[in-house]
Parts: sequence; C-alpha cells; structure tokens
Amino acid sequence: NHDFDVISAARNWRVDKAQSATPTEVVGELFASDVLTLDQLKSRLSKPTYRRLHATLERGERLDPAIADAVALAMKTWAMEKGATHYTHWFQPLTGYTAEKHDSFLSPAGDGAIASFSGGELIQAEPDASSFPSGGLRATFEARGYTAWDPSSPAFIMRHTNGSTLCIPTAFASWTGEALDNKTPLLRSTEALNKAVTPALHLFGASEGARVSSTLGAEQEYFLIAEEYYYRRPDLVMSGRTLFGAQPPRGQELEDHYFGAIPDRVLSFMTDAELQLYALGVPVKTRHNEVAPGQFEIAPIFESSNVAADHQQLIMQVLQNTARKYGLVALLHEKPFAGVNGSGKHCNWSMSTDAGENLLEPGDTPHENLQFLFFCSAVIKAVDEHQDLLRVSVASASNDHRLGANEAPPAIISIFLGSELTDILDRVESGEGGRGVEAGLLGLGTNVLPPLPRHAGDRNRTSPFAFTGNKFEFRAVGSSQSISFPITVLNTIVADAVQGLTAELKARLDSGAELAAAVGELVRETYSKHKRIVFNGDGYSDEWHEEAEHARGLLNLRTSIDAFPQLTSAKNAELFGRFGVLSERELAARQEVLYDQYFKTVNIEGETTEYVARTMILPAAVAYLAELHQAGGSRAVQATTGEIEVAADALYDALQALGTQNAALGGEEVHEKAHHVAAQVLPAMTAVRQAADRLEKVVAERHWPLPTYRQMLFVK
Ligand code: ADP
Ligand code: MG
Repeated sequence: NHDFDVISAARNWRVDKAQSATPTEVVGELFASDVLTLDQLKSRLSKPTYRRLHATLERGERLDPAIADAVALAMKTWAMEKGATHYTHWFQPLTGYTAEKHDSFLSPAGDGAIASFSGGELIQAEPDASSFPSGGLRATFEARGYTAWDPSSPAFIMRHTNGSTLCIPTAFASWTGEALDNKTPLLRSTEALNKAVTPALHLFGASEGARVSSTLGAEQEYFLIAEEYYYRRPDLVMSGRTLFGAQPPRGQELEDHYFGAIPDRVLSFMTDAELQLYALGVPVKTRHNEVAPGQFEIAPIFESSNVAADHQQLIMQVLQNTARKYGLVALLHEKPFAGVNGSGKHCNWSMSTDAGENLLEPGDTPHENLQFLFFCSAVIKAVDEHQDLLRVSVASASNDHRLGANEAPPAIISIFLGSELTDILDRVESGEGGRGVEAGLLGLGTNVLPPLPRHAGDRNRTSPFAFTGNKFEFRAVGSSQSISFPITVLNTIVADAVQGLTAELKARLDSGAELAAAVGELVRETYSKHKRIVFNGDGYSDEWHEEAEHARGLLNLRTSIDAFPQLTSAKNAELFGRFGVLSERELAARQEVLYDQYFKTVNIEGETTEYVARTMILPAAVAYLAELHQAGGSRAVQATTGEIEVAADALYDALQALGTQNAALGGEEVHEKAHHVAAQVLPAMTAVRQAADRLEKVVAERHWPLPTYRQMLFVK
C-alpha cells in the first residue's frame, strides 16, 4: 500500500543542501551584484566605446557592430571573473517560458583551449527555431531563427549549484524578421506608447526630448507543497494541477492563513529566493501568505516594463528552483487545487517619463490634475474600446479555471475607479461646479472640486482592472503566464487612446480654446462615452453579469475558446498594424499558437485523467472491494460495498466516455482540435473526476493511491 508519510513529507527539508539563509552581505552590496550594469561596462570600456554604447541605449537601437567585439570582451571578462563558464542568449519563445542554449566560453585551440566570445556571438545567435511554436511563421524550408541582444535589458549571471552562466537577454525572430517571441512586440509597444504620449505631454507644456515608457510591478501568487507529494501525483507532474481530489474538511473558510505568520520553512525558502533575486537585480519587496492554504505571494518594486517582464521570468524560475532545496515544489499554475482560490499575477501598470514623473499620479496643482484626468480618461477609453484584446491577452486553458469560473476576477472586463475618482468624473460629466472657462472648468480653478485622491481609498478584489491610487492593476493575468503580451496590449491600446485624444485636444487648442477648458470638455465627453466600462460593485455577482451584458453591452467572453477569435478581428489587426506592434501575419501566428497550446494542455490533462483513473484509482476501489468481500456481511460492510460499487461503475462508465473523446481529435485544424477538447474532453474529465472524488471519500485511506488535498495543502 501507499504510505505517504506525512511526517517525512513535513520533515523532508534538506537544510544541509539549502543555502545559508542569513544575509551575510549587506543587501546594498548584494543587489545587482550578478548584473552587468552600465557602471560596470563603463569601467571596462574605453571612453569612446562606452559613449557609442550609451548612445545606442538612449536611442533604443541595436548594438553597433563596430564596438561589438569590445563590448563582448568586457562582458566575457566580467562573467569569467564571476565564475561563469558558459554564456547563453536568453530568450522568450511563445511557450511563455524562457529558453536558453548554453555555449562554453572555451574553444579548442592548438594543444589547449582559449576563452572566446566575439562581438558577433554577442549580437546574434542562430538557435534552431523548429522546436519552438511559430504559429506557421517559420517556413518549413527555413527552420532557423535568430536571437539578437536587447541592450535595454542588462546581461546577468545565473547561478546553479556548481557553476554559473552568463545570460544575455535577447529577442527571437525568424529569418524574415518576424517576431517569434514575447519580447519583440513588448519592445515595439513600448516605443508606440512613447511616440503617442510625448506629443500629449508637449501640449501640457513638457519640454522636448522627454521619453515615456510604461512601468510595471507584477505580484506573483503561487502554492508550495511538499516535494514528496508532488512526485506522487502524476496529474501535478504532467499538467501542473490536480485533476482529482475531494475537498478537505477544512479549506480557506477559517481565513486564518492570509497574512498569517509565515512558517519557518517557507520563510527560509522565501529569504533564500529573495537573496538570489537581489543578486540578479530584481527589486523584490513584499512577501506574505495568500488566501488559500499553502498559497503565498511575492512582489517586486515596479520597473520599466521590458525589464520588469524579464525579471518576472526570473522570479518564476528562482522560486521553482529554490523550493526544491527546501523539499518543496512551487506551483505556478492558475488553479492547482479546486475549491480554494487560484493564483493570479496582478500587473500594476502606469506610464512614466524618463525623469520619473508618474503620469497617473494625481497632482497638487490644477494643472497637474488636468494632465492626470486626461491620461486617466485615455485609459478608460482604451479599456472600453479594447475589452476584447485585454480578455484575449489573459486567455489560456489554465486561466479558464479562474476567469469566469466563479472566481476572481470575472471574465467580463470592467474598471474599478473607486468612489472618489468616480465621484469626481461624475461631477465633471454633469458639469457641476460650472462649465466653460468662466466657471473654472471642473472647478479646477475655483477649488469647487475636492482634491483628487492621492491613494487608493477603497479596495475591490473582484475587479479585473482597478485604479489603485496612482496606477492601474490588471488582475486577470494568470500566475503562470508571461506578462509580456498583456503589457503589450495595454501599452498599445493606451497609445491608441492617447493618440486619439491628443489629436482632438490639439484641434481644439488650435482653434483657440484654452487648455483647461479644452481638456475639461474632452474628459467630460470621453467619460460620458465610455463610463459603461466603470463598475465599482461586486464583480462576482449574478446581477453584474446580467447588467454588464444586457444593460451595458460589455463583452462576456467566458472561456478562452470564446476569446481567441477576437485577436485577429479587423479592428485589432488594424490597431497592431498601425502601431507597428504586430503584423497581420504575426498576429495570426500568435492566435494559432494560442489554439495549439490550449489544445495540447487540455489533451495532456485528458490523457492524464484517463491514465490515473484507470491505473491508480479504479484498481484502488477494486482492491478495497475485494477486501470488503472478505470481511463478511455486516450491514456496514454491505452498505460500503454497495456505495463503492455504484461509484466504481460510474467511474468506469465515465472513463469509457473520456477514452472515446481522448481518441477523437475533432478535426485536422488546430482550432477544430481546440474546440473538440473544450466541448468534449473537459466535460468528460469532470465526470471522471466526480466519480473518483466520490470514491476518495469511501475507499480506505491506505488503499488510496494519491496524496489528498487534506495532506498536500497543510504540510508546512
Ligand atoms: P498596493 O498596496 O496598492 O497594491 P503596493 O505599493 O503594494 O500597492 O504596490 C503593488 C505593486 O504595484 C508593487 O509591485 C509596486 O511596485 C507596484 N507599483 C507601485 N507604483 C507603480 C507604478 N507607478 N507603476 C507600476 N507599478 C507600480
Ligand atoms: Mg495580491
């Protein structure tokens, strides 16, 4: 029988292998010590070379080949001083994960080996692209892709137990120059935002030359479970989530875990991970228990989006690697356990000038507040006009278990503004406090209007998109997904809205309107037109679903399958094309990859469900039945036998049905396969699970082949 020794699972904490969790270095010294910062490069390059590199960075351009060798040499020397033996172009294919192919610095030469790493190798590498999803962008005769250094994200050293590697953040493209990754569109969207927002800033009096980029701070939620349990659950290993599991007697109803004292083992793990992240220059700041038992959160301080997206990938990687040192496994899946909260990745987003001015920060002066209201209305307009894109940017098989599945947040995209800001915009709309210049429009000149809220007063955890004082928080992003595409979408749709409003504003100013009056009118019109997207109530309620769809006409794209088609609509192809973020081919390719990943994910889950139920759960029920048959005919035995027979038969029938659906494909095209698994395989899996979970509650524990929720969620 299977004896999952709870004590050993709980004690299996290999402190000996775990890194000393005591910060021995001052954090200030540790921070970014494994990052090749500009200062480091400056001290290692000649003045003219550094100046040229710096100019490249300022202009957001590719590295000048003329200085590439010198930069590569400086990089290699630095990395080898840090103990690195290998380098890799570190890139982000459309799998949502990172990819790396290591090359040694050493090349054989004559009798020995010399360390080599040329400018050419720094600028560009040619990984075989054929094993990465390309959505059809890669012609079959040309499998190669290339990776190119993104100098705006610094190189860093990734350490493992007995060595380290220089990682060079790169973009990944096909030979025809089409993006095969998540970084390239993000970089393009950052530039689109910059180009759209700077002209608006000029209208508000900013001097020429300022650059704007989006800022991003992503809160990562995750679960920790004992490693021993993890490897005894084929469903967790294969699909990242439990496909079986009866509800434990205790879930999250006691509300004793959230923000509770963090157990020593977990805290030691967190500290270890954080120290590594500090060395990598990731500014992690917050850690706490989350709502579900066994659930936690880590959050960094915000950075520019591109760097934040790279750092977010590092956070996921370091969490997963480090957990193992403590006999734990970090689960990043959106819904590892049914019945308790799932995990998201709240993306806090704003726009900032290179001088550090946050454009969504309400100001102290009427002028600053005009600017704030202008950008705030642009976000409202953007989200209303492009609900579909925001929804599809977070669509995946795994996130379907959160969004629209009675969980935070709903699949309907709306904005929570909070009562203060809503009140102000309502007053702007109604013209309260007077209209026009003479009344001091918005009351901004006459103090009629209360000061704008400087911090988020009220909180609303049910909204997918919330204003939190000086930024918006996109909460629908899934815990396991790359944040790059959601941020690409946000940057692009806000660029679009800002560009539209700026043109309007400019036209009004050109025809003689005063800035305050013109902005006031524009904010009023924009809010009036788009306020249907603003909702401050309970996003889970049935009333909201009713109101959103019927009274307000908002989209309710409940599942990924409902959302995917939106990506390539004429509106969206035009939008991405106009801003040079994604070509029509690139967009179509991305949609193809979404369908493909969806199909594969559910297909793996379907097969795993079948395998576990057939080879582990049904045999356990049968073995227990045999035991019961030996046990004589007491009423208890007879009744139990009857219950198990009924449930086992139900399991068997459900299994046959699932087997049939798993064997069918639904069609040749990937979207047909995706539709098939959504419509046929998922419900068949649910039926198998229901029967299995019923068995779990009656089969003797010593026969049960899987660690249970009761065991997994409460080992600390
Ligand atoms: P809250 O308690 O409102 O969630 P926090 O200060 O804890 O606010 O911030 C949550 C996340 O939001 C952090 O990652 C933080 O760095 C990020 N954040 C704060 N300001 C900004 C900003 N201007 N742009 C992007 N992210 C931000
Ligand atoms: Mg949170």
